Formats: sequence, C-alpha cells, structure tokens
Amino acid sequence: MKLEVWKPLTYISPSSLMTFEACSFKTYLTRMAGLPYAPREQSLAAAIGSYFDALVKWDLEQMLQTGNPKAKFSRLIKDNLTYEPIVEAKETAEKIFMAYKQQGYIQQLLDLGLNKVELEVYLDKPVPILGKPDAACCRADGKDIPFDWKTKGFTSVKKSYHCNKIPENWMIQITMYNWMLNDGDMTTPPQGIIHEIMPGPVSNISVKEHKVIVPREFEMALNVRLMNMWNTINHVREVDIPPACASLRKCNMYGSLCEAAVHCGAYAEMLE
Ligand code: SF4
Repeated sequence: MKLEVWKPLTYISPSSLMTFEACSFKTYLTRMAGLPYAPREQSLAAAIGSYFDALVKWDLEQMLQTGNPKAKFSRLIKDNLTYEPIVEAKETAEKIFMAYKQQGYIQQLLDLGLNKVELEVYLDKPVPILGKPDAACCRADGKDIPFDWKTKGFTSVKKSYHCNKIPENWMIQITMYNWMLNDGDMTTPPQGIIHEIMPGPVSNISVKEHKVIVPREFEMALNVRLMNMWNTINHVREVDIPPACASLRKCNMYGSLCEAAVHCGAYAEMLE
C-alpha cells in the first residue's frame, strides 16, 4: 500500500532493521508518518540494565579518561533511563555492579583491550547505518570489536538460563557494529564480546562471556536485508509498505504494547 512520507528515515540501526522486518507498518507509523505517539515504556528489567550499564561505563571511563562527554554518569542516566521510580532499578543495578567489579570483571575488560565506552558510530556506505555499541576493544591487528553487557532475569521469579546459542538480534548488532567501527571492512568475519549477567550463586550474579564470531553467510545475508529495507524506505514522498498484520505476539513484544498501536487499524480490528 502506498503511504505518504512526512519524515524520511535517514539511517538504519540494528533495532530499526529488526522492527522493520517484524512490522514495516510500525516503522512507517513511528518513524515516517510524522505522527505524535507515546514512546515505548521502559520496563523495570530494561531500567536495571541501563542503570548497570551507566555504572560500569562510568567506572571504566574514570580509568580510561577518554574524555567522552557521553560517558559522564549524569549523561548516561539522562540518555538511557526513562523509568520511574528510578530508585527501584538503582538498588538492584548497584548490587549487580558491586558484585561484577568485586569478581574482577572490570579489570578483565581492561586486560582484554577495552578502550572506549558509550559510542555512537555512523557509516554511510553502501547504506547509512547508525549504532550505539556499549564499548569497544582494540584487537592486535588494530581493528575495533564491539563489547556489550546484557543483564537478564533480575525481575523474574522464574529461573533464567544463559544463552547457549547466540540469538539473531545479537548477531545483527555485532555485525553492524563491526562495519561501523571498521569503516565497512568485510575482509574478516565480524566479532564481538558479550557479558551476559544473570542472578547466580556467587555474590548473587552469574556472568557468561560470549566471544562471538559471525558466520560469513550471515554477514552477507544481512547486507542484502539492509539493502532491501533501504530500497523500500529511501523515498521522500511515498513508500510502498505491505498492510499491517496484527498478532498478540507481535503487537506486545517483550510484554509491552506497540507504541504505534493507537494509530493502527489492524490492531483495532484484531481486538474487535
Ligand atoms: S500494533 Fe502491531 S500490527 Fe500495528 S503497527 Fe504495531 S506491531 Fe504492527
């Protein structure tokens, strides 16, 4: 269906690609239609993750002294936390951070060559992409590889398990961050390191380090997926997007309602 563009989308991020592939009509409503809508509410779990990220990035920045203004503690909180009341997230995040630091993980990151935190990177070829890696490490060959923290299970009564298979959204993030950090270089497979932090037996946390190497086929296929999205959205007047197809699972992803649902006829029809 042809839809009028009020606000062209000027770049693709890992999350915007995933949103587009799940529901391109949502991409249109939230990013291109010029409509006012309430931003997605931050869950307590996401707020704990963001507060923990702020603590760990600030701690590293104090040691690295990179001078990155985005890595100041107040800015990290302001840019990443919308949850209220923040005190709930703060208490849990501080406990996780203390345990993480006491178990030597901060020092381990420095030993790994982590040298930048709270990045915003942009690459304009072959399509404009933008991303915000948590941090980056410098490899022996001079290339930067992204580093990310993922916290989970701290608000759930059900036991969580560490990932054995790397989820697709992590692979997308790592691949796009590699391209952005290394000027689009595709001569070596994208790599990334993730610390997955969950409730556990030692000081109440359990940390699993994932050293990810993205398969070449995935990287090539992702390149095609990005081109497809860009060819669909890169128009200033009108885009051709398939009609929305609502489902409870899709419209309530991660337990919160799609922020565009109020403008979505397919969602209203599903509820009738
Ligand atoms: S409510 Fe569902 S179908 Fe409608 S835009 Fe959002 S995700 Fe897509």
